[in-house]
Amino acid sequence: MTQIIDGKAISAQIKDELKGKVAEMKEQGIEICLAVIQVGNDPASTVYVGKKKKACEYIGIKSLAYELPEETGEEELLELIGKLNGRKDVNGILVQLPLPKHIAEEKVLAAIEPVKDVDGFHVQNVGSLCVGKKGFVSCTPAGIIQLLKRYHIEIEGKECVVIGRSNIVGKPMALLLLQENGTVTVTHSRTKNLKEVTSRADILVVAIGKPKMITAEYVKEGAVVIDVGIHRNADNKLCGDVDYESVAPKCSAITPVPGGVGPMTIAMLMYNCVESVALQQ
Ligand code: NDP
Repeated sequence: MTQIIDGKAISAQIKDELKGKVAEMKEQGIEICLAVIQVGNDPASTVYVGKKKKACEYIGIKSLAYELPEETGEEELLELIGKLNGRKDVNGILVQLPLPKHIAEEKVLAAIEPVKDVDGFHVQNVGSLCVGKKGFVSCTPAGIIQLLKRYHIEIEGKECVVIGRSNIVGKPMALLLLQENGTVTVTHSRTKNLKEVTSRADILVVAIGKPKMITAEYVKEGAVVIDVGIHRNADNKLCGDVDYESVAPKCSAITPVPGGVGPMTIAMLMYNCVESVALQQ
């Protein structure tokens, strides 16, 4: 029978563990603070920012909200980041993406102090991950590793195929699977014979950004399938990059959408906020 990987339950477990840790830190006089910056009012971003604030509240992390208008200039945003970088009472800085087109995302992400970059997007943190040094790891792939580990799914020696090579999901995912001693293949839009490659996977991580593209014929019998995609269909229902109905019966384990990878991203952001204290020391 296919095991449904319950990201909601695992994320709740992680948040509860962190809540305990934060309470202990408070007793030692350590307070954690996350600054969340949103530029403009993209509805999806507003939902994500709201969820992040709620998670902070639950765990006992102080959150500072900076809601800036759409027309905010790049310099103004960089200035705010500079100020937050300098504040000893701020442990984490998060800039909600996407940013309005007139602001260079790369420049903004590079401006965040690597020790406060709780999203793990700064090149220094990406580099640390690449060479196996301590640093912040991008939350979505870190969450996927937690799901696999907490479901006792072995990675070592397994054929792991990642579909997608974005900087925030595909590439760090591949690096983390490699760190866990998986045999990793990364595929993308120029990959030839995608089905052939994905059919080799014991663990298939799908981050394409194309609703329900991965059907049963891409998947090996008994594979573990992790669906990173999030889409809203015409009926306003959520779905992933994987065609769950056709794929689920073929796998040994699968993440649903919603309730799979999504909740893990926020749990791991909270994990990074707690870790920031040690990294900053
Ligand atoms: P991107 O659009 O940045 O990357 C998509 C990747 O898929 C690219 O590397 C692209 O290849 C590859 N790709 C596109 N079409 C094909 C194809 N036909 N065959 C093979 N590869 C293809 O997306 P993200 O990585 O940012 O996100 C992926 C999905 O995950 C999205 O649905 C997003 O909404 C979701 N997401 C969910 C999160 C969560 O918390 N659950 C967090 C982040 C993202 P190429 O590089 O060649 O263009």
